[in-house]
Amino acid sequence: TSPPSTAGRSLPLPVSFEFFPPNTEAGAEKLKAVVRELSPVAPEFFSVTYGAGGSTRERTLSTVADIAALGHEAAPHLSCIGSTRQNIAEILDTYRKQGIRRIVALRGDLPSGTGTAGEFRYASELIHFIRETQGPELKIEVAAYPEYHPQQRYARRDIDYFAQKVKAGATAAITQFFYNADAYFHFVEEARSRGVDVPIVPGIMPFHNYARIAQFAQRDGIEIPRWVQLKMEGYMDDVASIRSFGLEVVTRLCERLISHGVPAIHFYTLNQSALSLEICQRLMR
Ligand code: FAD
Repeated sequence: TSPPSTAGRSLPLPVSFEFFPPNTEAGAEKLKAVVRELSPVAPEFFSVTYGAGGSTRERTLSTVADIAALGHEAAPHLSCIGSTRQNIAEILDTYRKQGIRRIVALRGDLPSGTGTAGEFRYASELIHFIRETQGPELKIEVAAYPEYHPQQRYARRDIDYFAQKVKAGATAAITQFFYNADAYFHFVEEARSRGVDVPIVPGIMPFHNYARIAQFAQRDGIEIPRWVQLKMEGYMDDVASIRSFGLEVVTRLCERLISHGVPAIHFYTLNQSALSLEICQRLMR
């Protein structure tokens, strides 16, 4: 894919944007506006998350259809925990009929205390199943964790399992968000040393709302550098300073990643266009 362009300037690499499926009609309309706002940077695709156990099955599907109707490639996420082979086969069948060419394949997490694991224990089993039933054409993206998956005690094993998952048939990986570029570079090196040769695309989370992002980071074992934390906390409710400092930190992170030759950037948008768009504009040359 060629890099996107706008008004004579262009991004030095492809980008993609992630959404969650809105749960109201108004939310769906708003998301269409967000897709239009992000269109000028010509994203490679928009991805749409999927609630574990199938809780957003219909909404993920309708969001994907809305994005496709606006002329963009849409990639549904599909998580397998709590599902049967039959369920997954039905969903894959629907996606094939819709002309979906790319899926983000995940294990997912069961909401605590609910349900049973189902017929797939790990994402690698889902990927095997997708490859077996859908053939070689479908692009399969998988998750990668530069600061390791929070449920895995041994970092080394996490990379081994990641490599297994790619060998099962993934065509690319998207990382969990991070603010420590060295963690990403090290992860990529380790993966390469295990024979992983697919693109490992950094997932970038702009500071949409510092308190909320800090909560996600805490939950998922992601480091927000101490100097960033202290500065953000020091701004208290000075929204303008939080926004401008957050943009600076994340833009610099992207610039560093780009200078190291990352293949693309995936933005966690939380269904908002402003910050991702602003960062893309700052990265244009
Ligand atoms: P896996 O790769 O299966 O790994 C899960 C854990 O099992 C890890 O600790 C790993 O080390 C371990 N493991 C793997 N294989 C083995 C094995 N053979 N033996 C023993 N241990 C093993 N969640 C959703 O519910 N919906 C979404 O749409 C969604 N989208 C996401 C998108 C991205 C880009 C990312 C990074 C995450 C997303 N998640 C989503 C979250 C994800 O589902 C959770 O992080 C989940 O806990 C792990 O999913 P996985 O696919 O990485 O699992």
